[in-house]
Amino acid sequence: MLRLFGTFVAVLAGLAFGSFLNVCASRWPHRMSVIKPRSYCVNCGRTLRWWENIPLASWVALRGRCRTCRAWIGWRHPIVEFAIGALWAHEAWKFFAAISRSELLPYDFKYSVTTAVGNCILCWMLVALAVLDAENLWLPDWITLPGIALGLIYTVTISALQSLFWFWQQNLQATLEKELGAMLISAGLILLIRLVYWLVRRREGIGLGDAKLMAMLAAWLGLQGGLLSFVLGVVFGALVAIVLLVISLARRRAGGWALQKLPLGTFLCVGGIIDVLWGDRILLAYRQWGSF
Ligand SMILES: [Zn+2]
Repeated sequence: MLRLFGTFVAVLAGLAFGSFLNVCASRWPHRMSVIKPRSYCVNCGRTLRWWENIPLASWVALRGRCRTCRAWIGWRHPIVEFAIGALWAHEAWKFFAAISRSELLPYDFKYSVTTAVGNCILCWMLVALAVLDAENLWLPDWITLPGIALGLIYTVTISALQSLFWFWQQNLQATLEKELGAMLISAGLILLIRLVYWLVRRREGIGLGDAKLMAMLAAWLGLQGGLLSFVLGVVFGALVAIVLLVISLARRRAGGWALQKLPLGTFLCVGGIIDVLWGDRILLAYRQWGSF
């Protein structure tokens, strides 16, 4: 019962924060405040009434169009709200399952709270970066850099909780060294690809934002998680590129596709979210497969 209720609350909170994310994604690229003015239609400028602002429900009720000027609001709004709602629900569902076990230790409780809250924050930032990169090819420093700092705090907290009964100061140093190594390797991977691309094409292919995003993923997910996100993101990106190529060939507009910039950051973010959701299982399956 508590589990259902808690998950329901997480869905509502997720929808609200997803709605806020939409405001950020629409206004940040224009350097506008996300607090003032209140939500309005970008086409006709009319301020929205409160009931036009309810996550998901309003979009469905209005069939994705402005009530007065009929302008198309776009798919991004409901997708983002649904994504944050679903991701937070998943974390809450896992959390309440973990704390309802009878043999729960105080350490388990703190650990469960930390991972649930941490994953919710990480997922929000990854969805925000995915949308901003997809729409503007832009990964703002004010998400990635604080994201790296939060990731370090998160990992150190987890490590301190895990070593509660041992010498956690010694553990702290080891954790920080491992973390910095993971971030350097992950960001270095992007910088290396950037360098190779520049040497071959004499053109910038990958932005520095992607390197900071990889450092952020490594700070939160460790070296394994960061690299897994990278592999998943590249595979997903390649699939999208193939689909786009097939479409442009079918329309006989080949030639333009190679110059079209794909948002690598968006694919890396999707890889990161998949790692948060199923990373452990994927790595386990990979190890079992490798041991045959
Ligand atoms: Zn309008």
